[in-house]
Amino acid sequence: MTEQFEDFFHKAISQALNWKEGQPPSAIYEALALVCVSEALAKLSEVRKADRDALARLGRRALLQAGGRTDEEAEALALVLPLARRGLAFLAGTAPANGRDGAAIYLTHPGPSELVAMTRGKPDAFGAASVALHVLQCASCAADLSLLERVREPAGISLRAAAADLSPMLSPTEGHSVGTCEALSAEAVLFDGGVLAVYANEPLAVRLVVEGGTTDDMRPGYWSGRVPQDTATLDATLYVGDKTTTWKIRLH
Ligand SMILES: [Zn+2]
Repeated sequence: MTEQFEDFFHKAISQALNWKEGQPPSAIYEALALVCVSEALAKLSEVRKADRDALARLGRRALLQAGGRTDEEAEALALVLPLARRGLAFLAGTAPANGRDGAAIYLTHPGPSELVAMTRGKPDAFGAASVALHVLQCASCAADLSLLERVREPAGISLRAAAADLSPMLSPTEGHSVGTCEALSAEAVLFDGGVLAVYANEPLAVRLVVEGGTTDDMRPGYWSGRVPQDTATLDATLYVGDKTTTWKIRLH
């Protein structure tokens, strides 16, 4: 996943560095927004220092001159500029405290598809930057992001899984069912030691987010992790593919 990101991040940087006076600065803003994604993937230090410095210089200049001529332009820039500024701050090693600069941070935990989309700079550089800023301040999303490579390409999973040294999927017959989510066609199964697994009917990316929980494994149609045991009911958020829902799971 990161290899792909590096490819288009480098392309975005060279497009920005080829910017000529008089051209719209959108390529510069986009490259700066992708710096946020690069930071979330811990890949920023892999960019040549000369390129980082050149982009920072160019970015500083573009941001100083930023301003929309029409209300519509100004409105679009209000979203774009704080994200570009945050990217510039990462380049300069002076990222401000979260929330102080008006950057639109993704407020909920992004679903697995959104996390993977972020690593591809989608839906666009700024949407990806917004998710990246969430990941940078959310340990649970950061941890899950590193596990997501396996569910990226469902068709390629069997090869990947065979090649990688993965612990086997938990068999639902070895635990006991603690609930089904009708809306997203998934079942939760509890195992000894506070391990919970979620099985979906479709081979889509599955993610369960629970306060105080951690993810062990994610595969198409499957998620497993550890959940707090001191509570009778878990307030979970379930993601299956592009869909999401809240889910109360009764453990005891
Ligand atoms: Zn999160």
